Amino acid sequence: MKYEKMQKERIVVVSNRLPVSIRRKHKILKIQSSPGGVATAFQSFQKEGKVAFVGWPGFIPENQEEKRTIEEILIRDHNSYPVFLSSKEIDKYYFGFSNRAIWPLFHYFTSMSEFDLSEWKTYQEVNEKFFQKLSEVIQPHDIIWIHDYHLMLLPGLVRQHDPESTVGFFLHIPFPSSEIFRVLPWRKEVLKGLLGADLIGFHTYEYARHFMSSVLRLLGYEHEFGSVTIDQRTVRVGNFPMGIDVNRVEKLLAKKSVMMNTAELSVNIQTSRYKIFLSVDRLDYTKGIPERLKAFELFLEQNPEQHGHVVMIMICVPSRTMVKDYLLLRHEVERLVGRINGRFGLHGWIPVHYMYRSFPFEKLLPYYVLADVAVVTPIRDGMNLVAKEYVAAKKDETGVLILSEAAGAATELGEAILVNVNHTEELAKAFEIALEGDEAEQKKRMKSMRKRIHDYPLHYWTSNFIESLKSVKRLQDEKKRKKLDMAGEDKIFSAFKSAKNRLLLLDYDGTLVPFAQRPELAAPDDSLIALLKGLAGNTGNTLVIISGRDKETLQEWLNDVPCSLIAEHGAWIRKYPRKKWKMERPLSNEWKKELYPIFKQYEVTVPGSFLEEKDYGLAWHYRKANPELGQIRSRELFDYLNEFLANTDLQVMHGNKIIEVRFMAVNKGRALESFLMQREWPFILAVGDDWTDEDMFKVLPPSSFALKIGHGESLAPYYLDSVKSFRDFLEKLSS
Ligand code: UDP
Repeated sequence: MKYEKMQKERIVVVSNRLPVSIRRKHKILKIQSSPGGVATAFQSFQKEGKVAFVGWPGFIPENQEEKRTIEEILIRDHNSYPVFLSSKEIDKYYFGFSNRAIWPLFHYFTSMSEFDLSEWKTYQEVNEKFFQKLSEVIQPHDIIWIHDYHLMLLPGLVRQHDPESTVGFFLHIPFPSSEIFRVLPWRKEVLKGLLGADLIGFHTYEYARHFMSSVLRLLGYEHEFGSVTIDQRTVRVGNFPMGIDVNRVEKLLAKKSVMMNTAELSVNIQTSRYKIFLSVDRLDYTKGIPERLKAFELFLEQNPEQHGHVVMIMICVPSRTMVKDYLLLRHEVERLVGRINGRFGLHGWIPVHYMYRSFPFEKLLPYYVLADVAVVTPIRDGMNLVAKEYVAAKKDETGVLILSEAAGAATELGEAILVNVNHTEELAKAFEIALEGDEAEQKKRMKSMRKRIHDYPLHYWTSNFIESLKSVKRLQDEKKRKKLDMAGEDKIFSAFKSAKNRLLLLDYDGTLVPFAQRPELAAPDDSLIALLKGLAGNTGNTLVIISGRDKETLQEWLNDVPCSLIAEHGAWIRKYPRKKWKMERPLSNEWKKELYPIFKQYEVTVPGSFLEEKDYGLAWHYRKANPELGQIRSRELFDYLNEFLANTDLQVMHGNKIIEVRFMAVNKGRALESFLMQREWPFILAVGDDWTDEDMFKVLPPSSFALKIGHGESLAPYYLDSVKSFRDFLEKLSS
């Protein structure tokens, strides 16, 4: 089915669950919107009719007719397009792969992850099903925003079918370190699925970093400034910490019924008598509930004077009750609550008030308002909104937040008492500090946390993400425009033909030949020699091969080509038809003694990497090293050398899998000076692939043509994808 066309820009939000609840009571369907979660973030778009939702409605219809009715109502009244799933699919895709494999693994509970092939297959099928529905809904100019770990293959499916679509993906849970992620049997499929998006968002920089490192290690794609280039498409990876709807909290706090509830609750839980500790979580093993109870037990043990003066209110929301591990956890929690209350309780005082149920947000707020201390201690948590809600509810700036350092929220709420949840003694101590701390200091901390929460509310998260997604699209478009197309080629060809004297400046590695595992293996093939001879043989052409290589190699490989050679980025020049190499400026070699041991150390400690000594340069190649190790160590060496060489006339360069030191005065731009000044050139073409070639592009007169091989930033107004396409271009030029 294809739905009616929309004219304006629309955001299509795809998530596992639609923001609706459907119930059947006495054969009558009750369909209500059920905001909360992701949907809250789109309220303002919803009012303007600019958002549509695609997801599972959380309900299995009895028959086709009921299915049709539900679909009609959801589309008409809720802008929601349902993906109906069978109970078998829910079991395998949702409870199975999503919650028994991905959830524990991404929260570092590796031993709890179960990998079942048939569940993985159903996960693939359900992602396909979502794609089918999405393709019925989607229209040109729509922005697709896919949410969370249930749908990690969906961006890839969308991309396969529509390479031009605008797709964002946000992961609401942590992305684990690559060492953990690689445990997943279908890790490559998952990464490829995610990389179908144009923008991939995480709550924290750490998660984004882990993701990029997995991409590098498992798929070999490098990242630069938060971008990965895949099949000539830039994918941006960023952190977008999710905020909360502060306005909604404030409005509710001012609501009469909420104020009355707060007053009533205050009497019920006797806030005048007890200091209140509060915890609110789904009953999930990632939330650290038993750990918290054990620490509270230790605190009571170590602080008998607090008996009868403190109460821990624990709200545990039933969750995934069908999954065995959750049932076991509930038993464990209830056993611990029983043990603590049994051990320390007195007539009139129960230390732990445990509630296994959920409250509507309005009813939850009074607990936040009244709690002296919120104890948010997940073992691992993507963000944790409870921590932020507690802070938002503390209008009078009182209250202390104890927060696990392993919650995403800890990166923003640094003024909380940050704890390592696995350290029971430390957590028990945190309870003491929270009670005994200096009030003025506590207020100061709460105030600055409140400010941060106000500065970055939920709608910022939404608009930031959407704006970044649009900017990636703009960047991609810009890149596309720069790609050398037929029109660009024609322009160059006709300028070439009409000019009598032409200067052709060509880099060697990565431009005329692809990179080889070792530099000596990148010798020119016969067809390249023939091509270059043909070009150089044309009397109107002056050909210069301008390379970072040593002069001996260039000479050996290109001796038969009637062209000039520039070696070591310009340290040596052999100007055709002379056969002698000339040094442009006098250079010394003393510095090499100093730097040699440093380079040598990297050669020894990074397997597969090696050192190359040139007449006036030292280079460390890491193309063959483990890609991640190579990248890490190369940045380290680059940073180190930059410091080391500050205020000298030497320069360190980070080229294509190579770190090289050479004289600052020696660069491809300088080396070209004499060629450029030799005469008036009505046609100049300069082609290169890495940033050493940018020095060459910098000195070109404005009418020249410059071409970069490969992607990435460049001064060159055109680019081509590969050495092969450039060689094809040269063939045409010389024919
Ligand atoms: N919540 C609620 N009623 C309850 C308990 C919790 O509405 O009785 C809400 C709470 O306000 C918060 C969300 O559930 O917005 C929990 O989000 P969080 O990020 O802390 O944990 P998650 O459950 O997403 O892992």
